[in-house]
Formats: sequence, structure tokens, C-alpha cells
Amino acid sequence: MKEKILVHICCAPDLLYFLKRLKEDNPDKEIIGFFYDPNIHPKEEYDLRLIETKRICKLLGIDLIEGEYDVENWLEAVKGLEEEPERGKRCQVCFDLRLKRSFEKAKELNCKYVTTTLLMSPKKDINQLKFSGENLESEYDIKFIAPDYRKGGGTQEMFRLAKDYEIYMQDYCGCIYGMINQGKDMVVYTSRIKGRKPGSREEFLFIKRIKFLAESRELTTKEIPFPFLGWILLSGSLYVNDEPVESVIEPYSMSIKGIVRGKVERKIGNVLHLNRGFVKIKLKEKVVEDIPVTFNGLINPTFVVHSSLERKLMEGKIKATLQSRFEEMKSIVLIIGSENAEYLIGVPADTTSTGEGVKLEEVDDLIKLYHEDIYKGRLAVVVVGAEINGKFGSKVFESITGRKIDGTIKSLVNG
Ligand code: SF4
Repeated sequence: MKEKILVHICCAPDLLYFLKRLKEDNPDKEIIGFFYDPNIHPKEEYDLRLIETKRICKLLGIDLIEGEYDVENWLEAVKGLEEEPERGKRCQVCFDLRLKRSFEKAKELNCKYVTTTLLMSPKKDINQLKFSGENLESEYDIKFIAPDYRKGGGTQEMFRLAKDYEIYMQDYCGCIYGMINQGKDMVVYTSRIKGRKPGSREEFLFIKRIKFLAESRELTTKEIPFPFLGWILLSGSLYVNDEPVESVIEPYSMSIKGIVRGKVERKIGNVLHLNRGFVKIKLKEKVVEDIPVTFNGLINPTFVVHSSLERKLMEGKIKATLQSRFEEMKSIVLIIGSENAEYLIGVPADTTSTGEGVKLEEVDDLIKLYHEDIYKGRLAVVVVGAEINGKFGSKVFESITGRKIDGTIKSLVNG
């Protein structure tokens, strides 16, 4: 029977080069992957790293076991170390915890060796990892192996492979504290509460899941990443006579400097105009924002309020705040099949502000139904990110390939 090595896996970019080298160095051993990373925040990021890990393990023919996402356990273990820098005490505890669970799993599976793809990560301290791993050896009677594949251009090769295989590259280590310390993902409130916002992790995950499904069915895929400018609502509120009023803010509203205090000066149609700050209040039967299909410039700070509040607003003292900004974001166009296929079907990856959009199962059904056409180059599915407002994804696809998308998934389903 072959000796077994259990490889703790942290993410797909580190995994691909590490496993290639590990396989070359250990041709006579069986390699088993173990994804155990309860440190990763948020869950969507965890799912994103996991789906990419599944894809790469499949590619390399490695069995993969998914560990528990016991995030509470991880948070408890690093309590009191929240402020520690990377490579500090919190990271040591984080390695100890993940490697301990990996040794337990290795024991269950009768593995002789344990290692971790964390050794490949340029930001990790190899000595910290060795310290964690070697400390566990005697307890489990399992050897920790720590090859340094970063040396001799390994790191550069890892990045090259990750690019070639279109692997999702995270830009922070994984945990919420590292994220905060690196200034990533400031807590922002966007106008879209539900669904897959354009450029969000949820949208990325949706696209990567489709990629995984397509590749599992032997279909080729190609990604076109692209940047775009996203409008983000940071905060906003409306008060009448110092009481908060339920409202939503129209996308592309300009920020208000400080606080605007005023009264309604006039009503034109269903819109109340304040005497200060160019603030508008739209009266509607349903408190939902109007998302414009295309961006036509910034608008005055505009709140949407239920029409039953008209009298109160007309007579009361109004106070309004609003902070928004533009931010460069990223999304992807994913082509399943050939971009030269006779017919191109578009699938928007993002959702409307109410969370309505295409479901993963619908895309899966589409791929199954048209598998032969896709395979033979008669049809291609183009999953377009940041599509619903402004059709950014379609525009990117058209400008790069010179082709227009012929129909949408809905038009195909509805005939
Ligand atoms: S920065 Fe990375 S290694 Fe350190 S505690 Fe956070 S997730 Fe773990």
C-alpha cells in the first residue's frame, strides 16, 4: 500500500504549484487534500476559495476533503489577539489550530505525513509554520514535511500558473482581523441590500461556480476580467421633526456636506423639493429605488418615501444626511465554449436591487441542454458580470471580441 501525505490546503493559487512539485518529489505516495480554513471571512470568500480549490484538485486528480467551517471555534481561539500584526501571535494560533485539525484528519486516514500549502504563500513565515507542524509530530506520530518551493523562482512560477489557470487571487490573508488591518472591505452600506451586487464576492462566487460546473462537463471556459466604477452608498438618513423616516436613497445621489436642515419649498409632480441643499424627496406607493439602466451622471441627493407621509413632510422640519462615493471595482466575463460560436447566449451574473436574477440551477440546466452545441462550437454561454445596470459586462465582451450577444438566458427559456 502506498504511503499517504495529507496536504492541508489554504487556497487555490498556493495549491497548484505546491502540489505539482509535491507530486514530482513523491511519485510513490498518495496525496490527499484537506481544505480546513475556518479563519476565512466572510463565508462567501470561503466558498469562493473552496470552489477554486475543488477545480484545481480535479485538474490535478487529487482527492479533496472539506473540513468544517467552525468559525466560532477559530474566533474563540484567537480571542485577545485581534490587534496582532500578520506573522504575529494570532497567526501562530491560526496555524496551530488548522494544522492540529489536519493532523487529526491524517490520523483518521492513516497518513504518514502532513504538510500545508501555506508554505507556498509569500507572506507567511515558514519558521512559524514549521514550529506549529513539528510540535504536533510526536502527539500524532506523523511527520510534518515543510518543503520550500518558494525558492529558485517558485513564487514567480506560482503566480504565472495562477494567471494561466484563471485562479481567483485573493488580496488578503483570510481572517476579518487581517482584512481590517489591511484596510480592506470597509464596512459599506450599498443601496442594494439583497442579491449579487456587481463586483461583489457573491457575484464572483456565482461565476466561479458556473465555471466549475462547465469544466466538470469537459467544456472549455475563458475569463475576461474588467474594472468598472461603482457607486457606493456609505450612509444616509432622513428625519422629520427629529423622527427618522423610512426611506431609500436613489442610486447616483450626490453626497450632502454635513447635515442639511430645511423645509419643503415646492412640490412638482410627486417630488418634494427642499429649500436647502438641493435635496429631493420622491413620494411613491412603494419605497423602492429606481435604478437607472445606464449611468447618466450624478443626481441631486434624492430620497424615496411612502406617499402617505406627504403631509408630515410638507409641514415638518426636515433633516437629511447622505454620503456616497465612486470606487473602482472588478468583475468578470466568463465564456463557456468558443467566443466564435455561431450563437451567443448572455447570462447576467449580478441581480436586481430586489435580489432577482438568474439561478445557478438555471445556468446548469442550460449547459446540460445545450452541451453538444457548446462542445461543437455552435453555441456559447457568456456569463456577464456587472450587467444589470449599465450592461458593463456585455460592453466589455463586445469591445474585446467584436461580437454582440445574440440572446439572453431568459429569451431562450421563454422562446
Ligand atoms: S492573518 Fe492569516 S494567518 Fe494570520 S490569523 Fe488571519 S487568517 Fe490566520
